[in-house]
Amino acid sequence: MFSFREEQVILQDLIIGHLDMDSFFASIEIVDHPDLIGKPVIVGARPEGGAGRGVVSTCSYEARAFGISSGMPVSTAFRLCPDGIYLVPRHSRYCEISRDIMSCIADTGFSYEQVSIDEAYLNLSPLHSFEKAQDVCQDLKKRIFREFHLTCSIGIAPSRSYAKIASEQAKPDGFFVLLPKDIIPLLDPMPASIIPGIGKKGIQILEKHGIKTVSDLRKMDQWRAQDLFGSMAQQIYHIVHGYERKGISHIGPASSISKETTFLQDTLDRDLLRETLLRLTGIVHTQMIRIGYSCKTVTLKIRYTGFITRTHAVTLSHPSREYDLLSQTVLHLFDARYEDKAVRLIGVRFSGFDRLSDGQRRLDEFGVES
Ligand SMILES: [Mg+2]
Repeated sequence: MFSFREEQVILQDLIIGHLDMDSFFASIEIVDHPDLIGKPVIVGARPEGGAGRGVVSTCSYEARAFGISSGMPVSTAFRLCPDGIYLVPRHSRYCEISRDIMSCIADTGFSYEQVSIDEAYLNLSPLHSFEKAQDVCQDLKKRIFREFHLTCSIGIAPSRSYAKIASEQAKPDGFFVLLPKDIIPLLDPMPASIIPGIGKKGIQILEKHGIKTVSDLRKMDQWRAQDLFGSMAQQIYHIVHGYERKGISHIGPASSISKETTFLQDTLDRDLLRETLLRLTGIVHTQMIRIGYSCKTVTLKIRYTGFITRTHAVTLSHPSREYDLLSQTVLHLFDARYEDKAVRLIGVRFSGFDRLSDGQRRLDEFGVES
């Protein structure tokens, strides 16, 4: 299996992003308790003076400097860093932030697959360009930082495993685009443990056989590989040869794209509000066009001073991708529904997506939903 005989591999035109939040639980604790900034924060079981049971869930990069890592017994962590800040996990808080982050990912309009509380794959293939994929992911990364003060690392590559390896290279707060031609040169000197699917047991076995790097693994005799990895051998073969082309599991149409903005100072300025709406509509429209959709529903969101939030939606009689029509719809909704009170936040959402192109529709064809 690992001999270099010619294999017919269909190289699909995939572009996959892997987003992974940096030390997610510890970072949330630090955002919620700013006095912890710069300190070694360890989230997990209580250390009980070094006698505690259980393991470290996550720790801050300051704690990593002491040699602490996720999955380590908390008693070991305590020996390495007795002065660390040990916190019991607040899972409901982490889930809440995770949901908000996933909805930012959903707002890009690309289909995605959440694989853990702080990790997701995005299918950026409709962009047909690594550069454009990078723009989308940079925007997403910036938005996550702006809204939650949390950093993430993103890898972009032609397949899932490579995207994951790329995001790991970027940690923390990084960005890594792995082009098809760079896969083998990047992987070859890396430890074999980087290959998903080998597992801890696999690594021990490989070490016994003197196999340390991905390059060693690639040179491995096929029968031996089959013996060692069994049914996983084929998958590992594809990864180490740069052949893997695996997308995301739930490729379905995005359900909505939205964009909102919070004003530095609450405002009553109608012109400013209308201008802002046009700008937001432009951004949402560009994203929608990029993924080749038309939309049927346009929603305006207004949050007034005092956190009173109103949403108003209009459903068109036919899906549209016409900027003029959609922006007029947003302004029309605003003019009809704005309550002449100071506004804290304003936003636009397009939903009810369709791949069909539209015909011209007139405003009087609209049915107002509420
Ligand atoms: Mg993470």
